[in-house]
Amino acid sequence: MDCIRIRNLEVFGHHGVYKEENKLGQKFVVCADVFVDIRPAGLNDELKLSVHYGDLCNFMNDFMRTNTYYLIEAAAEQMARALLLRFERVSSIKLTIKKPWAPIGLPLEEVSVQIERGWHDAYIGMGSNMGDKKDFISEAVKRMGHDDDIRICEESSLITTKAYGKTDQPDFLNGVAHIKTLYTPNELLVCMNELETLAGRERKEHWGPRTLDLDILFYDDLVLDSKDLTIPHYDIKNRDFVLKPLCEIAPWLRHPLTGKTVRQMLDELEA
Ligand code: ADP
Ligand code: MG
Repeated sequence: MDCIRIRNLEVFGHHGVYKEENKLGQKFVVCADVFVDIRPAGLNDELKLSVHYGDLCNFMNDFMRTNTYYLIEAAAEQMARALLLRFERVSSIKLTIKKPWAPIGLPLEEVSVQIERGWHDAYIGMGSNMGDKKDFISEAVKRMGHDDDIRICEESSLITTKAYGKTDQPDFLNGVAHIKTLYTPNELLVCMNELETLAGRERKEHWGPRTLDLDILFYDDLVLDSKDLTIPHYDIKNRDFVLKPLCEIAPWLRHPLTGKTVRQMLDELEA
């Protein structure tokens, strides 16, 4: 992808685990590959269609001066996030912070950390079959929207569906939201679980009635299997209450393992 490259920006900061470092400060050197779609600016020759590299440099200079961390790991993590929140056109950033005068009592040219951070596309399946179902879902979407690390891109309409799996329970209201997020998959799961708890969800029985269920359906084209998390969600192809709303906002979306689009999966399920 297109990128604006900043090489060896020298900044002064007070980061370090030693008191003297926090007091005296020292030189840090920053490199950044800032990923931005440059084509609109390239075709129109207009600065407002890109990101001003002077602004980027000033932002990083100010950030490194005005915040103090023990670790350059933390400085990098927080500066990458701050930059992604501040500059809307930036989709991701590869950031290196070098510490040429690291006080380790040995001659070394420099030590540095490098991280890559960015916005990820995720699709969240939402369901409720207790109390004010519509309100539980819209409150969850509102809370997601108020989280700095989440941007709501699109919401499907909500549909009423029969309970799945354990069928002797009230009808569900279901929908899907497309979000962009800075969270890792596991952080996103924690966030979704917190929203469920805030909605008063109690986990009594598997597939039992719930005020709010938030499932991560897709996260970029990631395939992940771990104890707590399976992405894409393991049962998408069998769930019309997921595929129908998903088809409304992203029929072209492809399952990274089967290669089938949402539209295809829904057609096959309905056939
Ligand atoms: P279900 O959504 O299948 O009805 P729960 O909401 O009770 O069941 O979720 C049970 C567990 O499923 C969660 O605690 C979570 O760790 C795990 N899980 C695995 N993959 C996912 C995913 N993609 N999205 C949400 N939860 C998941
Ligand atoms: Mg769930």
